[in-house]
Amino acid sequence: THVARRVSVAEEACTFADVGGLDDVKRAIHRTIVLPYQRPDLFEQYGRRAGGGVLLFGPPGCGKTLLARATAGECGAPFLNLRIEDVLDPYFGVSEQRLHLGFDEARAAAPCVLFLDEIDTLAFARRHQRSAGVGRAMVDQLLQELDAIGANNDGLLVLGATNVPWDVDDALQRPGRFDRVIFVPPPDAEARRRILDIALRERPTAGIDVDALAERTPMFSGADLCAVVERAVDAAIDEALTSADEVPVSQRHVDAAMRTARATTLEW
Ligand code: ATP
Repeated sequence: THVARRVSVAEEACTFADVGGLDDVKRAIHRTIVLPYQRPDLFEQYGRRAGGGVLLFGPPGCGKTLLARATAGECGAPFLNLRIEDVLDPYFGVSEQRLHLGFDEARAAAPCVLFLDEIDTLAFARRHQRSAGVGRAMVDQLLQELDAIGANNDGLLVLGATNVPWDVDDALQRPGRFDRVIFVPPPDAEARRRILDIALRERPTAGIDVDALAERTPMFSGADLCAVVERAVDAAIDEALTSADEVPVSQRHVDAAMRTARATTLEW
């Protein structure tokens, strides 16, 4: 069985065009990951060392996982998702082994993007002594894996993500490890408009005021906005079931969906 969930490029191709807003973040990732991947010669020429991971942090649902997938798409490289939660095992030493296995799988698939979600889980588990076998050893194992990547030039592009950067072990943020930390903020009005455009593309719509919807959804995450669109689509489908005519997704469906909508980044 595989530890890392592999998503092949063909299966779920996604690029920066699928990520609404976050232009600064995309630029930073382009410079630190995509460009060195595409032009290693240039980086060598200027004495820039490849390696070192990028840690994305910010409120849930604002596109960290999506950005990691899109980074793989921009590189044309496979995407592997290794969730720390899936690696943890109560038996002594097993978590470390499984983590190592995940990195082995990534090395076999290299060059690829390896995404480590919920990095904070390690610190959390350590502090609360949640279970045997999860502790300092897991952090040490992760440090070892990250250092090995830097030393061997394995072609692993590592992206980590956390909602709680203050829970991430300092040792993980030293040079050559997660030495670049990038904030993925809640979308502003312009970004919300672009996220809504992306969510609504390829759907039959009529007369939805996307600008107005973007204005009235401050503090909504990308995931919150997508949920509003999905509920509006559900309402249109319900109507279409009993209608002889086509029922495009319309403003009234959106208004109905907004009545139960929530801005989850407020709770962050
Ligand atoms: P978590 O911290 O909970 O893991 P996350 O920051 O990784 O959250 P994603 O999983 O990337 O969030 O986002 C969830 C979904 O919300 C995405 O699959 C996408 O459909 C939508 N979404 C979020 N942000 C954006 C965005 N900027 N552009 C387009 N879609 C977005």
